[in-house]
Amino acid sequence: MAKQTHRPALLQRLPDRVVRLLREIGQLGDERGCQVYVVGGVVRDLLLGHVTLDLDLTVEGVGIAFARLVADRYRAGLAVFERFATARLAFPDGLKIDIATTRRESYAQPAVLPTVQPASIEEDLSRRDFTINAIAVQLNPRQFGRLLDPYGGQRDLRAHTIRVLHAGSFQDDPTRIFRAIRFDQRFGFLLERTTMRLLAQAASTNLIQQLSGPRLRNEILLLFAEHDPMRAIARLGQLKLFRFLHRRLCYTTKVKRVVTAVPKALAWWVRRFPDSVIHRPTVYLMALSSKSSAVVVAAMIRRLALSREQAKNVSTGGRRVDRALRRITNKGTVRPSQVYRLLADFSDEGLVLLLAKQLSAQHEVRLSLLKRHLVAYVKNKAVKTALTGRDLQAMGLKPGPQYKTILGKLLDARIDGMITTEADERALTHRLIKKAVLVLRER
Ligand code: ATP
Repeated sequence: MAKQTHRPALLQRLPDRVVRLLREIGQLGDERGCQVYVVGGVVRDLLLGHVTLDLDLTVEGVGIAFARLVADRYRAGLAVFERFATARLAFPDGLKIDIATTRRESYAQPAVLPTVQPASIEEDLSRRDFTINAIAVQLNPRQFGRLLDPYGGQRDLRAHTIRVLHAGSFQDDPTRIFRAIRFDQRFGFLLERTTMRLLAQAASTNLIQQLSGPRLRNEILLLFAEHDPMRAIARLGQLKLFRFLHRRLCYTTKVKRVVTAVPKALAWWVRRFPDSVIHRPTVYLMALSSKSSAVVVAAMIRRLALSREQAKNVSTGGRRVDRALRRITNKGTVRPSQVYRLLADFSDEGLVLLLAKQLSAQHEVRLSLLKRHLVAYVKNKAVKTALTGRDLQAMGLKPGPQYKTILGKLLDARIDGMITTEADERALTHRLIKKAVLVLRER
């Protein structure tokens, strides 16, 4: 085969326990009489000097059987995906390895999942997305570290270039459009000229429309999960790809300002609340659709087949955020309890969006007011009343909807610092009951 080099030192950059495991897996390959390779992103990243542990192995001919053998040997968890001839191993120490059978893929139609047949490693590399992802390193003991690079992946890595392997690549699988933009974003590489032309051509057709909801969602969320996806988002805008989320989802200057403010909003949030776990891609999706109508957002949610939780988040991103923002930052004072009520069912992602919107408005005074309210709100989320429904019952109040009203008012009073003790709560409860009785009598 062309373009082979021997670079055992490349794999030595991985942690020792992983190198040991890969050597043993190579040994198992010899015992089973099959050729085993590590391939794809890990090899690319090692060549770039980064260590990632997203290990993809590929085995000539017998991937799943080999995966079972490895799972037995190491007592690893095993999930098998027969249709794609792949398996995922979960090792007791937390390491995960994907094992596939080297294969050729054929596409019955563009944009649908391919049909898979066993094939040689050369053919397997030829069906990959870009040259930089089409490099394999063999693990069998005598060939340990043998690098197979038939398409000039190392050359393109050195030249910081993303290049498809053949002219029909984006037609076969339009998810590669998003993958190209993702790698361009992550590595700051350039799309090679022909690749760029092919990509623009594929983007201008309706191919992406044929992708299933989960596949499109996966690509969009992976893109937005990149460290700072602004360049990728700009590229999606240039190529008019947001139309595939919804044809009326426009990347207007206003939306652009909100999206551009997201990284700063996220950075502030993480600094302030280091324990909160934010799903960053959701914030970007919310920002992107924040000026769209509820109808457009609902259609986008359906198109992307978002989970119920994601859907709930994304649908609060529009008018509700605007309304809360106006109330909180307008002139005149707003009580902490009112802020609490306004934000009570916002997710943390929604709160970050609120901040991004205010940042994009470039109004320093309102921004610092909002930040103060957010800090207070997060603290107030932990505030609880001392009294419960049972206490109200013990005080002689008949169970009913007034429990919620009274406990709500107690909580508000606590949040606003009007009361601080259980005795205060009891006194306020008595006053509220008295007032309610008076109102009832007046009626
Ligand atoms: P990341 O660092 O984002 O995980 P990766 O390259 O490891 O990037 P994966 O999605 O894990 O990406 O895919 C592993 C490998 O499988 C890729 O490096 C590539 O060789 C191949 N691959 C993945 N998706 C495609 C695709 N749509 N078309 C062709 N080959 C693909």
